[in-house]
Amino acid sequence: MSQNSFSTRRRESVGVQVGSITIGGSAPVVIQSMTNTDTVNEAATVAQVEELARTGSELVRITVNSAEAAKAVPNIRAKLNDMGCYVPLVGDFHFNGHKLLAGYPDCAESLSKYRINPGNVGYGKKRDEQFATLIETACKYDKPVRIGVNWGSLDPEMLARIMDENAKSKKPEDAAYVMREALITSALESAAKAEEIGLKRNRIVLSCKVSGVQDLIMVYRELATRCNYALHLGLTEAGMGSKGIVASTAALSILLQEGIGDTIRISLTPEPGGDRSREVIVGQEILQTMGLRAFVPLVAACPGCGRTTSTYFQELAENIQSYVRNEMTVWRDQYDGVENMTLAVMGCVVNGPGESKHANIGISLPGSGENPVAPVYVDGQKTVTLKGNNIADEFRQIVDQYVQEKYPKKIQ
Ligand code: SF4
Repeated sequence: MSQNSFSTRRRESVGVQVGSITIGGSAPVVIQSMTNTDTVNEAATVAQVEELARTGSELVRITVNSAEAAKAVPNIRAKLNDMGCYVPLVGDFHFNGHKLLAGYPDCAESLSKYRINPGNVGYGKKRDEQFATLIETACKYDKPVRIGVNWGSLDPEMLARIMDENAKSKKPEDAAYVMREALITSALESAAKAEEIGLKRNRIVLSCKVSGVQDLIMVYRELATRCNYALHLGLTEAGMGSKGIVASTAALSILLQEGIGDTIRISLTPEPGGDRSREVIVGQEILQTMGLRAFVPLVAACPGCGRTTSTYFQELAENIQSYVRNEMTVWRDQYDGVENMTLAVMGCVVNGPGESKHANIGISLPGSGENPVAPVYVDGQKTVTLKGNNIADEFRQIVDQYVQEKYPKKIQ
């Protein structure tokens, strides 16, 4: 389904070029992620950036919080380039960002974008000076900036001012409204200041992150109507496991459906030892299941029930999803359009053949009491019935053959 088939149109925004990637304008919604390695540990950071990029992160943000980290950034960039990984790197700066960017020109140069939080730039008079230094550095190196406001670190002076104005108004609003207004005001005032200093509008991305789903939706709806800056969407501190995924999906899907959002990041807390690239997969799956973009062939699978005799079909569904995700790293460069392929792995004949016929390739495994055979459908037609112990291998071969025959070879 193309984006044009949605009843809502994408909000118009000013496109921002970040290395080879465009955020906003007419560009598709961009997936980004952030490392959780110590940037000083160059090997670990390079490995994680490469993994995130290989999974599909189109931008990767890294923490730049110390002189050592700033020194490591150009080395990380060079090592990634040597590996053929050219994903644009975004530097995440807080209280000392102005010093690090001014003091380490190679770091400033090798990053493709700077992320700054106006609530963490400094206090009082220093805040304005330090903010100006950051923006001047961005202008000097011609780098875009994300002005990323976070409700956990709102500029206290600005918050006090807005609370004061609200208290004096004839109809004061509640605290939640004031907080949302403060987030939006901080982002818009900071962006206006950045433009005054000389940063062009097509070098500015805004975000206003909160951790509540309804608050996020309200903040972005309002922000979207009050500016045409490109917007970065994300639910901050979304949490672990299914909670983080569900909360992020709920919030982002509503906004994306309304055409709001030019780049997304899913802020999942990995389980100990968990895989950081899961946040990229979740972001891709949000966009793909909504029909906004296609990244990797999706596998439809039934939930299973008392009619399934074993976990075999669950294993097959998992196995096929992992297989196509892995193969996609090669297929992507070789075949046009393979990311749009759909697969179905079904547990029995109740819904199996019907669902299989809707997919490009579907398999319906034998349910309880059924003949131990698995009919395969290709583009709606039953082509073969698999049986025996090699169903998974044979099904993968059918998928491989389909890709080779169906999708045109890319011209290398
Ligand atoms: S397709 Fe069959 S096994 Fe799967 S949920 Fe439906 S009835 Fe159960």
